[in-house]
Amino acid sequence: MTQKQNIIGIAREDLEKEFIDAGIPKFRTKQIWHWLYFQGVRSFEDMPNIPKDLRQKLGDSYTIHRPEVSKALISVDGTQKWLLKFVDGEEAECVHIPEVDRGTICLSSQVGCTLTCKFCHTGTQKLVRNLTAAEIVGQMMVARDAFNEWPTPSSNRHVSNIVMMGMGEPLYNFDNVAKALKIIMDPEGISLSKRKITLSTSGVVPMMDRCGEEIGVNLAVSLHAVRDDLRNTLVPLNKKYPLKDLIDACRRYPGVNNANRITFEYVMLKGINDTNVDAKELVRLIRGIPAKINLIPFNPWPSSDYECSTPERIAAFSDIVFKAGYSSPVRTPRGRDILAACGQLKSESVRQSKSLLSSLNAGI
Ligand code: SAH
Ligand code: SF4
Repeated sequence: MTQKQNIIGIAREDLEKEFIDAGIPKFRTKQIWHWLYFQGVRSFEDMPNIPKDLRQKLGDSYTIHRPEVSKALISVDGTQKWLLKFVDGEEAECVHIPEVDRGTICLSSQVGCTLTCKFCHTGTQKLVRNLTAAEIVGQMMVARDAFNEWPTPSSNRHVSNIVMMGMGEPLYNFDNVAKALKIIMDPEGISLSKRKITLSTSGVVPMMDRCGEEIGVNLAVSLHAVRDDLRNTLVPLNKKYPLKDLIDACRRYPGVNNANRITFEYVMLKGINDTNVDAKELVRLIRGIPAKINLIPFNPWPSSDYECSTPERIAAFSDIVFKAGYSSPVRTPRGRDILAACGQLKSESVRQSKSLLSSLNAGI
């Protein structure tokens, strides 16, 4: 028997083609798409305007599959984290951050990460694999399920914004990320505007142009250092794509203007990258780019080499950047108590499976 395919995650044009090849008229794609991504149904039986025999046929060929929630945690600040299990047993996490005027879902693009940024816990975990488009869209759908946010509301959504800032480097899984975001942006389904989506990269320069041209979402760049020698250490990818190339790619990123700025992320590491000289060099480096600087207090993890800068140092750094004309908000750490803050993802589940492993080894 051939395995059924998950219909979630198939690009709209590919689905239309598959249907036409199977003798299903084109207008059915639109209807089925609406049921899947606007209404959020989980069974072909719940599509009443689709003839019974076609529902049967669809059910014979496809499933409507979401990742399984193997653990759901909620922080004292309302942040939620879901550990999701995929069909092969691999796991990744996504996080929902509620704010007064919006709710942001932080999606993962890979299980683990091949890059080894010194301050990032995810970077210490070896990459297991890229996530598929279905697994990326699935994270969004699981969050929408949790808030019972179907059919797609036109306003006041719990899941109103996306940041591709979870586990993994999204531009190392470009095809699947692009496919997933196009599904999420489709106006007849989940319908999230590209302006509500931000993709964060550690600086995969050759893919940044394609990201702008083919997906067109907002760009965040994990800068973290303003000199190549330091950035080579903190973000080793810098050895391949140094600051000059990175900043040039930011300058030409399509669609950037004063209303759509590039976000530069800068993790505040005590005594490493947080001096006034660094702040002034940062301003010089990005001059002319419509940008805002997001200062991220370092989130420590066991055996990490760094400490977070003091609040006074962060304030002084922020002030220099602000006075040079850039918005320089300090990112409030959210969900630290459930290990959901930046750079902490997957750590809990890895630690748990290790302890599980040792208890198994001990014959418990
Ligand atoms: N791989 C992508 C996106 C995921 S990381 C990237 O690197 O941009 C999301 C953000 O969290 C990045 O800016 C990353 O540098 C930052 N980050 C990683 N570890 C952190 C930590 N321990 N404390 C604070 N921020 C961290
Ligand atoms: Fe990977 Fe981003 Fe962490 Fe660097 S900061 S190791 S690119 S997830």
